[in-house]
Amino acid sequence: MSGVPYAEVIGDPIAQSKSPLIHKFWLDALGMAGDYRRAQIKPEDLAAHLTERRTDPDWRGCNVTIPHKVAVMDLVDDPGNVRGTIGAMNTIVRQPDGSVIGTNTDAAGFYAPLAETDLTGAPVVVIGAGGAARAVLFALARAGVGHVTILNRSPLKAMGLLATFGLKGEVLGLDAQLPPAALLVNSSSLGMTGQPPLDLDLSPLPGDAIVYDLVYAPLQTGLLKAAEARGLGSVDGLDMLIGQAALAFELFFGAAPPEGRDEELRARLVA
Ligand code: NAP
Repeated sequence: MSGVPYAEVIGDPIAQSKSPLIHKFWLDALGMAGDYRRAQIKPEDLAAHLTERRTDPDWRGCNVTIPHKVAVMDLVDDPGNVRGTIGAMNTIVRQPDGSVIGTNTDAAGFYAPLAETDLTGAPVVVIGAGGAARAVLFALARAGVGHVTILNRSPLKAMGLLATFGLKGEVLGLDAQLPPAALLVNSSSLGMTGQPPLDLDLSPLPGDAIVYDLVYAPLQTGLLKAAEARGLGSVDGLDMLIGQAALAFELFFGAAPPEGRDEELRARLVA
């Protein structure tokens, strides 16, 4: 007999995750029976946890966060093309027959706010070369961007990413002067609460450039303040956070999140 469907987010630590708030907000707004939990799972318990969960017909799947995004690729029945592309998995979905498939909704979540912007052949700048940068570069490669400049503390890592995603461009240090670019994305941890600031001179960017900061704590980062002071377009980290969750919600619960409720959700996320 099946009960109330539920999904969860697994990681270690897990208390910081905003996913339960987002998914429960949508379940409530849609009046759907369902739950979304958080589970602190240590790396040594990961395989056993997923083995146990896949036998539970009420479990619709899970989001995956640090430090399991790579390890789970070996624990699903079908990892799709995730391993050969982004190289990290953030969503696992249980099929009715108990098999589990994995995907990554970060790239599509990142790209959603840019969907109306034509980036074909456009020069872009990306700060960072970690897990989030992989999703960003994957999405930008698919959007057909032009020259990509990556600024990162560890240049070798960034060079590897240009090659992985077949992008033409160059790697510079964090103190380099920015080239002119249509889009600047911060996918590093710099500017996040408790991390060093990201100090960039935005003056080389043209007046119609967009500045996109994945950091959402604080929401109004120093980078976004500088972009607004220059009158540039800006996108904050909550857009991607909500965007990647929306895709996962639909996979778990079979319904799209409610329309027109994003401002209310954003207010709850920053409260
Ligand atoms: P990660 O894999 O640990 O990568 C961190 C990146 O930041 C690397 O490029 C690292 O440089 C750089 N970095 C960290 N500390 C630094 C320092 N002290 N000085 C210079 N560079 C430093 O982390 P991630 O998962 O990519 O996450 C990065 C940021 O994106 C976080 O703030 C996270 O919250 C945010 N994020 C947001 C969303 C969203 O939905 N909005 C989704 C994913 C991530 P090295 O390569 O040299 O180590």
